[in-house]
Amino acid sequence: MNSRTEQRIALISVHGDPAIEIGKEEAGGQNVYVRQVGEALAQLGWQVDMFTRKVSTEQDTIVQHRPNCRTIRLEAGAVEFVPRDNLFGNLPEFVDNFLEFQRLNGITYPLIHTNYWLSSWVGMQLKKIQGSKQVHTYHSLGAVKYNTIKTIPLIASTRLAVEKEVLETAERIVATSPQEKEHMRSLVSTKGNIDIIPCGTDIEQFGRISRQAARVQLGLNPEDKVVMYVGRFDPRKGIETLVRAVGKSQFRGDKHLKLIIGGGSRPGQSDGMERERIEGIVHELGMSDFTIFTGRLSQEILPSYYAAADVCVVPSHYEPFGLVAIEAMASNTPVVASDVGGLQFTVVSEETGLLAPPQDEDAFAVAIDRILANPQWRDKLGQAARRRVENKFSWNGVATQLSELYTQLLQAKVQEEEPVLLSS
Ligand code: UDP
Repeated sequence: MNSRTEQRIALISVHGDPAIEIGKEEAGGQNVYVRQVGEALAQLGWQVDMFTRKVSTEQDTIVQHRPNCRTIRLEAGAVEFVPRDNLFGNLPEFVDNFLEFQRLNGITYPLIHTNYWLSSWVGMQLKKIQGSKQVHTYHSLGAVKYNTIKTIPLIASTRLAVEKEVLETAERIVATSPQEKEHMRSLVSTKGNIDIIPCGTDIEQFGRISRQAARVQLGLNPEDKVVMYVGRFDPRKGIETLVRAVGKSQFRGDKHLKLIIGGGSRPGQSDGMERERIEGIVHELGMSDFTIFTGRLSQEILPSYYAAADVCVVPSHYEPFGLVAIEAMASNTPVVASDVGGLQFTVVSEETGLLAPPQDEDAFAVAIDRILANPQWRDKLGQAARRRVENKFSWNGVATQLSELYTQLLQAKVQEEEPVLLSS
């Protein structure tokens, strides 16, 4: 029997529930990451429990994803949606309920992988209380994010302090790109242990359907020039830059130009307000007749959208990794992305797509047009993009690297605890 079969790991993702629908405001890359990593680790023989916060009384407390992999929802504060910036005060209760879960089930997790700064605080308490080892993935760094937004939230100073402490105390930090590691070193702390293990994508799910077949399925024409965005409605995502860029495209006026904007939103919440704002700009620029808002796209239909597009645009102001870029690339579709963060790692400019300065609508317009104007080059970029994902960003490869890291940390624990044998 594989020795890892006995090994338990807790993945903690307080605000990013791995078992819910992806594509809404607070559900995005982190939810996908935790679920995919959890499921892939279970396949490698780990007993994986993913802990998150319960946000509705209708939610099941435990969701079994596959053998040895489940999501466990703990209460922390009112059982309702709370924006992440307001969650910090509920974390002590999350820790208490985590300990209670362990007690009731006779489990103590030797290793905890935390996600986002809120969970890192939980992990640091568990480390102090019961000596659990901690691996942490940031998903977003306050020190970078606060440089890109106008209104700094009240929680900022707490977040920055927690992000520094976890970098200096966790057994290992997982940076998802060399750029993210560099930001940690230059903006957070020079202390602490960082490994680079990227995010991944399901290379079986994406890239199976051809552009032609996908267009038939979605009711698009073979001659259409399809520019697409997928992701949350959040000002940091830079959807406005994309809309203004397409408004300036040389193909404006061509009846085949189509702009597809995919992603869920809830009226009255911050994502609903951002969608309304974007719709307002589309209307103001006279682009409503060729812009399609699809709403949330399920993981089942997404591969067809990516495959149908001529180009997928990721115009974020800041992006620690950006799963959408590698999903599009896995689908043989080139990506035009902002020249920031993890996008500089995933997108190789002129080889798998193009990079443009963030918020520069003119540069985005030029980049998009270069790809739309040249279908042969589009195909070449798309094929190179697919190869890059196969080589570097498959979930199985990512989970194997994480598994090796966990094993190494757990073995280090065993060695530390072994009595020292005196030589005779
Ligand atoms: N997503 C989805 N449906 C949508 C919009 C987004 O499934 O309608 C998924 C998308 O496929 C990707 C994730 O949400 O896996 C977004 O991750 P990314 O890292 O690009 O951005 P984040 O949300 O973490 O900022």
